[in-house]
Amino acid sequence: MSDIIHLLSDDIANKIAAGEVVVRPAAVVKELVENSVDAGASDIQLIIRDGGKALIQLVDDGCGMSETDARMSFERHATSKINTIDDLFSVRTMGFRGEALASIAAVAKVDLKTRRVNDELATNIVIEGSNLTKQELCQAPVGTNIAVKSLFYNVPARRKFLKSDSVETRHILEEFTRIALAHPGIRMSFFNNDKEVFRLPAQNLRQRIVSLFSRKHDERLVPVGEYTDIVNVEGFIGKPEFAKKSKGEQFFFVNDRFIKSGYLHHAVMSAYQDFLEPKQQPLYVLKLQLDPTRLDINVHPSKHEVKFEDEKHIYTIVAAAVRHALSKFSVTPTLDFEADPSFNRHEFFSGPKDVLVDNPVREGSGNTFLKRHQDLMDDRPKDDSWKQFYELDKSEPHPANELDVLAESSELELVQVNGKFILMPTESGFLLIDQRRAHQRILLERLETAVGGFPSQKLLFPQTIPLSIGEVQRFEQHSEVINQLGFQLEVFGKDSLVVHASPADLSIENLAQLVEDVLADLQVNGVSNPRASVARQLALHGAIKHGQKLNKPEMQKLVNELFACQQPNYGIRKDKTFLTYSNDQLDKAFFL
Ligand code: ADP
Ligand code: MG
Repeated sequence: MSDIIHLLSDDIANKIAAGEVVVRPAAVVKELVENSVDAGASDIQLIIRDGGKALIQLVDDGCGMSETDARMSFERHATSKINTIDDLFSVRTMGFRGEALASIAAVAKVDLKTRRVNDELATNIVIEGSNLTKQELCQAPVGTNIAVKSLFYNVPARRKFLKSDSVETRHILEEFTRIALAHPGIRMSFFNNDKEVFRLPAQNLRQRIVSLFSRKHDERLVPVGEYTDIVNVEGFIGKPEFAKKSKGEQFFFVNDRFIKSGYLHHAVMSAYQDFLEPKQQPLYVLKLQLDPTRLDINVHPSKHEVKFEDEKHIYTIVAAAVRHALSKFSVTPTLDFEADPSFNRHEFFSGPKDVLVDNPVREGSGNTFLKRHQDLMDDRPKDDSWKQFYELDKSEPHPANELDVLAESSELELVQVNGKFILMPTESGFLLIDQRRAHQRILLERLETAVGGFPSQKLLFPQTIPLSIGEVQRFEQHSEVINQLGFQLEVFGKDSLVVHASPADLSIENLAQLVEDVLADLQVNGVSNPRASVARQLALHGAIKHGQKLNKPEMQKLVNELFACQQPNYGIRKDKTFLTYSNDQLDKAFFL
């Protein structure tokens, strides 16, 4: 028998590679626009026809290419962007694989005109299905003009799988939007079937968001800026009241590259948790800048995913960044009273929020990250004014006293408002209690003071939770505390835990998430007070949620338990558990 293994021809190899890089017209757009960005363009025009199936053209004013480079650029693994394997770990350009042009030219007809600033003439190259059909000098402006025509003309099977023009156009628009947000300083325009869709001048990020989405967005944006040794987070988030049911306006960029990350999305959502109804999605455009050697962008061929070396820290910093932005702008759940200017919003909403319950700043600990992290989590103004807030607060009549009087005389008239708040009349006005925060406070104190341990509840079926090896190690380090608070957890293999029982009487919706959050919290706060850290996560997860209907006795119990707490006024994050409205204030509000 003769040998049967042979090398594939370049043509076939390119077509196979194209299957990875060029899945649809939008992928071509992404590669070409990224090349223009890498070429240092300050002006980029995108022109498409028929959903990109007939034409995708990019015109830029970037550095252009020499005649030889223009020819080379279509070879596989031909790139000007990295030389050595070390470069791969510090790459700052969008492209680096040197695959895109070769792949595109394998499955389309490509016409390239390119000129460098000091060359008199431009180079024109035409390649059809990997075959060079023209190479000559011509007249053309500085920069690169590349037209990709008849995509998949020689791969009918793929052409058949393209969606309608309008669907493909939507995908292209999505890519355009991502790159336009990543590089607001670049002029960008977009023409679809000869109609101008966008003409964006060089802008700052805020203006770019407004230009891309709508003018109304301007007032909906809250700036974010968090600067740490590990990562800088900048950008904008949307005010909670403008949250939508869809995820369309959510963008993460890492070193100016659009990425998708369920993990970081979760970090953002955790910061919004008290502000949004279930299923509501806030806008965010968040840009992370970090040392490129501390991330791996190479995990997926289409490069939308990245792997961070400091994943957990980045999670915490992103969450803190969003929380800070929200609290700095006093964005709070909208109450009807807010509309009335005579209500001094400041009075109710100012003051420290989000301060972790256990937050000793360990001076001179030598651990700058920990210190930095605690600063981050601590929203107290850096001067002393917050102290006054606490002191003022102490001098207020303790509501528990007021309650005692009421409770003796009659049953409380409690009303649940919007599945979120409990309205409670008092002699001098009324209180509006946030049911979720109130319950978090109750649970926190119960968990913290449970001597000997917290009751647990056996699961009908033990649940296995896949984790990272690091998380399992952290569990082992703190297993005693965790199991004392009602868990029965056991290590299973290198990278999972089995849950046999969970703390009793908590409304835990997502046990796996709870365990992950407990371990994440322990990583940051476990050194100083592991028990407080576990208790905090249990209370956060286990409290009744917004939207949960409560009957009279349940409300009564909640209110009684809240005011039996040591610190009824504050929730877990030192946010208010209730607001007080005095008759005086109400009278004034009506008459002013
Ligand atoms: P990569 O971007 O990964 O290097 P590509 O196949 O996308 O690979 O491009 C190959 C090379 O062609 C690039 O490294 C660059 O030198 C050159 N090139 C591509 N597009 C442009 C452009 N618009 N302007 C200048 N040079 C370009
Ligand atoms: Mg490229």
